[in-house]
Amino acid sequence: MMIRKILIEPDPILRKKCSNLEIVNDDVRKLMDQMLATMYNAPGIGLAAIQIGILKRVVVIDISKDQEKKNPIFLVNPVILNKSKSTSVYEEGCLSLPGQFAEIERPAECVIKYIDYNGKEKKLEAKGLLATCVQHEVDHLDGILFIDYLSKLKKDMIIKKLIKQKKEIKRIVV
Ligand code: ZN
Repeated sequence: MMIRKILIEPDPILRKKCSNLEIVNDDVRKLMDQMLATMYNAPGIGLAAIQIGILKRVVVIDISKDQEKKNPIFLVNPVILNKSKSTSVYEEGCLSLPGQFAEIERPAECVIKYIDYNGKEKKLEAKGLLATCVQHEVDHLDGILFIDYLSKLKKDMIIKKLIKQKKEIKRIVV
């Protein structure tokens, strides 16, 4: 399975808004398979198509801890219908912000509707880590990153570190 290159912040593409898919066909399934392989390879627990430069509302998630029992969820055109008033805090990271983590407070539960791998409409009630992960990924589809919830000072610090990392990577390649 082809592993795709993950875009790293700061990258203007990561700030774009993604559009809905009209239909889930074999091309979309191929994209989702590649996204899943890319996510497992990274490794991560969620990946949005925008992170590999495709501006479509497609997300893959797998929060299962057991490597043997993979449990991937494919979300096409996910829409958050409901968010709980109660919140929870997780230390979040992101494949587009390597090595950067921050505690983020989000609604503890959410209900989403989406289209699945087979093109069927589904609903999902998410709580705990899954609820946070779903909200993090849906944010990606609107060009939002978890650092946007931090103070400007913290956010600028993280972006500065990422720019430095990118330069170092370039230096090695050249
Ligand atoms: Zn992310």
